[in-house]
Amino acid sequence: PWSGDAVSLATPPLQALVIAVTTRAIFSLEEEHKLYLEKGKEEYTRHQQANQDKPLPPGTAFAFIQVSPLQHVNKKILERNPAEKDLFDILVLSNNSPESGVRIINSAKHYGLEISKFCFVSNEDSTQYLKSQGVKLFLSADRTDVCNALQRGVFSPSNPPYFSQAPSTPLRVVFDGDAVLFSNETDQIFQEQGLEEAVHALLCFQGPLKAFAMHLGKMRKKFSQEKSPIRTYLVTARSGRDMGIRAIKTLREWGLEIDEAFFMDGAPKGPILAQIQPHIFFDDGLHNIQGARNMGVPSAWVPSCC
Ligand SMILES: [Mg+2]
Repeated sequence: PWSGDAVSLATPPLQALVIAVTTRAIFSLEEEHKLYLEKGKEEYTRHQQANQDKPLPPGTAFAFIQVSPLQHVNKKILERNPAEKDLFDILVLSNNSPESGVRIINSAKHYGLEISKFCFVSNEDSTQYLKSQGVKLFLSADRTDVCNALQRGVFSPSNPPYFSQAPSTPLRVVFDGDAVLFSNETDQIFQEQGLEEAVHALLCFQGPLKAFAMHLGKMRKKFSQEKSPIRTYLVTARSGRDMGIRAIKTLREWGLEIDEAFFMDGAPKGPILAQIQPHIFFDDGLHNIQGARNMGVPSAWVPSCC
């Protein structure tokens, strides 16, 4: 039998875009979590073992992680070059014990999810393994997880998206600008010192999602715009007049190609998001997240501090 922490990991493929997701984000474990809190770990483990062949319902991050669209992107990249290592790599991180983890693995198999690694860590803070696995994006339903990950320097939005029936290809990812792709400081510099200085500041300070967005952009650039299995969008509440110039200048400097950009000038983002139907939308504003969810758009809140 297992004792203590159990981490069984293959070496991550070089350059892969590693995304970690917790079991409670990928599957709906609300009832089981309640059982865990009320009756304790042993009862929870017994329940998970007794039900190990019964698939769990999809959870909040399911739409983003399911076979398509991420798998579609990998397939297209490998069609171009079978030796390519720059692929999406999904890691499931769980503070479940390995004993109760069989149901998680069986559920992943049931839905045909292409998950390369499962980490079952009988530990309160499972985020300690994120860094060594080169994780660029961590999706969790738990605020403490998210804060721990942020402190470890791994970008981590909380409240990940829920199940959606949007068309599965191409992979559509929508970013907010300020405090997501760009750092918050730049806005202040823009107000006080003007556009040139702000553009310079944008290049120096990066938002919490920059590394993930850049990697996505690198994958995106392997294809022509018409053939790309990835589409990236910028949807900001700013006006095109001020934000437009600096955002586009900065993204050009970074080499990140955005397929479509929307400068909403304070108008709600929900309607445009409902039209794009992204697999995931990242924003630091809770009102924008709420607006997106009201439209049935999977969205992940990006906390700027914990
Ligand atoms: Mg923002």
